[in-house]
Amino acid sequence: MIQEAINRYLLKTKQNCLSPKAVLFDMDGVLYDSMRFHARAWHETAMNHHLQAVEEDFYMYEGRTGDSTINELYQRTFQRDATEKEKKEIYEEKATFFNRYNDGKAMTGAADVLAAVKNAGLQTLVVTGSGQHSLINKLEHTYPGYFTREKMVTAFDVKYGKPHPEPYLMGLEKAGVKANEAFVVENAPMGVEAGVAAGIFTIAVNTGPLPDKVLLDAGADLLYPDMTSLAKDWNNIMECIKKSGN
Ligand code: MG
Repeated sequence: MIQEAINRYLLKTKQNCLSPKAVLFDMDGVLYDSMRFHARAWHETAMNHHLQAVEEDFYMYEGRTGDSTINELYQRTFQRDATEKEKKEIYEEKATFFNRYNDGKAMTGAADVLAAVKNAGLQTLVVTGSGQHSLINKLEHTYPGYFTREKMVTAFDVKYGKPHPEPYLMGLEKAGVKANEAFVVENAPMGVEAGVAAGIFTIAVNTGPLPDKVLLDAGADLLYPDMTSLAKDWNNIMECIKKSGN
């Protein structure tokens, strides 16, 4: 299955080989078990502002910038974009709710994935659409020795955000590697789309409530149910890459 995924990737991207040197990790739903708090915070904020939304929407929109999510809700409810003032107010309210609910828990298995990646000699970077300082600033503490602010792409660095390839292209640049020299690890459909659009081999972990199909349709090259199973399979992935003559 891994071998087939590699062959499909090479064909699709017209690359000769996959030779990983870096892994670009999404943050929410991959490194932190924080998506349910984001979804709850977004949904409550939307209700307060009479915006049409259900909690699942926020798993579908995950990875987008806050502004883009707010515009989507305004378009849907009022058939117009939100004003700058509305965007600021709503994002701040959402952040307040999020910080109240979020327990800052690391995603189960994520530390094992990081250890396996480091052990394989690959760099580790974070590429997130998040602008939540509360989590971004915690990364170096939760996962000591893996991430530095210089090698991070956040909402503060990008113009478009996921599903645009921009954040992952920026991640490649920060890592100093090419598209066929990296992996993306993502849990969100729009994040997967962004990784794939950047030409990177994209591994999805379905840590949320969406059906697997949504991540596969977004173009995921491989799919795991959680970070623990990805950690267990990491050496197998690396072996398959070696075997495929890379
Ligand atoms: Mg995510």
